[in-house]
Amino acid sequence: VSVSEFDLISRFFAQATAARADVLLGIGDDCALLQPPAGACLATGIDTLVEGRHFVSNVDPAALGHKALAVNLSDLAAMGAEPAWATLSLTLPRADSAWLGSFVAGFAALAAEHRVQLVGGDTTRGPLSITVQVQGFVDPAAALRRSAGRVGDRVFVSGTLGDAGLALARPDHDALSGAQRAFLQRRLDRPTPRVALGRLLVGRANAAIDISDGLAADLGHLCRASGVGARIELARLPTSPAVAAECARGEWRHALAGGDDYELLFSVDPARVEALLRACAAAGQAVQEIGHLVAEDGITLIYPDGRMSAEVPHGFDHFRE
Ligand SMILES: [Mg+2]
Repeated sequence: VSVSEFDLISRFFAQATAARADVLLGIGDDCALLQPPAGACLATGIDTLVEGRHFVSNVDPAALGHKALAVNLSDLAAMGAEPAWATLSLTLPRADSAWLGSFVAGFAALAAEHRVQLVGGDTTRGPLSITVQVQGFVDPAAALRRSAGRVGDRVFVSGTLGDAGLALARPDHDALSGAQRAFLQRRLDRPTPRVALGRLLVGRANAAIDISDGLAADLGHLCRASGVGARIELARLPTSPAVAAECARGEWRHALAGGDDYELLFSVDPARVEALLRACAAAGQAVQEIGHLVAEDGITLIYPDGRMSAEVPHGFDHFRE
């Protein structure tokens, strides 16, 4: 692969996303020049996907382009930030223009949905690896931190839990219809970053985190950062029919520890729950209360039969770390 081929790719990146007024200089110079709004602070996050660790080699490149950006937007959502800019570093075994066209199309479609402009792109030859960095804006005093949970806060999650984990653990699940399998696979391949919900939570929620490692692990992160514990009622976990069927037969690991959900987990002062639920209903955002924060360390799971346990089922031990 010649240098000029990768040069062409960079020019291709420059056309990938729509132009924003706050990009004074985009792709093409040594650096981009970006103008954040007065008074906002920059929220910035980065994530790398590596072939063989985070995805399999035959994955649809359009889905990969979507997911590489989606996991980053999910982190911005968890801070309550408004997405603005992204940079992309691609390591490719070869300059395959069909693969790249699909990858950029998947990336660009999600970028357009969130008005994100790609302002820097770099390509190198090597084993397939994708790094995306995103920047967004948030009022520094109002950003959602995982450390802001208080004893007594109600704990909420968005969407449904365990779909991606079930798709990864049991891709050929024979108890499911083709449509159910397709739904789970889509939840794994094309997660929906909850950006609008994150914006809505600013000023309404205390602590927030996005669920990338599974509900139990990310709730653990929130609790440790906040210096609290949590009680979770398993009967209240929001699940799709396929995951609900797993839970009904006592298999809770997908909902609790599946990972790759990219839903938001957040805590709300009890006095503000009613207003929050009204705002979510008005905005068409599905959220579900699943428990509350307590003073004692650790997570207590309350099973539907009333049994209580501090033992969290392990996730499917796949290649993601
Ligand atoms: Mg996160």
